Amino acid sequence: MNCPYCGHTDSKVIDSRDVNDGIRRRRQCLRCDSRFTTYERFERSSLFVIKKDGRREEFDREKLLTGIRKACDKRPLPGNAAAGLVDDIEAELYQTGRPEVASTAIGDMVMERLKSLDHIAYIRFASVYRQFQDITTLKEEVDSLANHVAKPAADQLPLFKQEELPVQEQGRRRVKR
Ligand SMILES: [Zn+2]
Repeated sequence: MNCPYCGHTDSKVIDSRDVNDGIRRRRQCLRCDSRFTTYERFERSSLFVIKKDGRREEFDREKLLTGIRKACDKRPLPGNAAAGLVDDIEAELYQTGRPEVASTAIGDMVMERLKSLDHIAYIRFASVYRQFQDITTLKEEVDSLANHVAKPAADQLPLFKQEELPVQEQGRRRVKR
């Protein structure tokens, strides 16, 4: 979207919110600093998700958002973190212009983003998405994450807090089944 004032092609998003079936973005031109608003609407009917068992179903933004919200539950993240993440993924999915996408590809996109957002949320999501069968598989994932994060960034939340070990999540879910 070119700047309506000077025609420059690059702008940054300074605010983003859901409006009905689209997203309203407040942007600022990177050249002249003028602010303007864009609306993005999705062609929802055109994207199908291919499940692991081969079934196709229409992409469901709410379902994805619910899964990510659960993973982020009670984590010290901004209130709109989960929605922002879904916005980002949804925009990327529709930008490809493809009518179908594998559910695993969406899962990977979520994991990739959660990994840099919050490690506990990442492990929680991974434990559901990868369907860890036992504590060993879960521990391998945590170990591999810990190895990748030799030096956590200053803004990254601590990897472990005893009361938040995802083992408890796993146990709770097992009880529900
Ligand atoms: Zn401009």
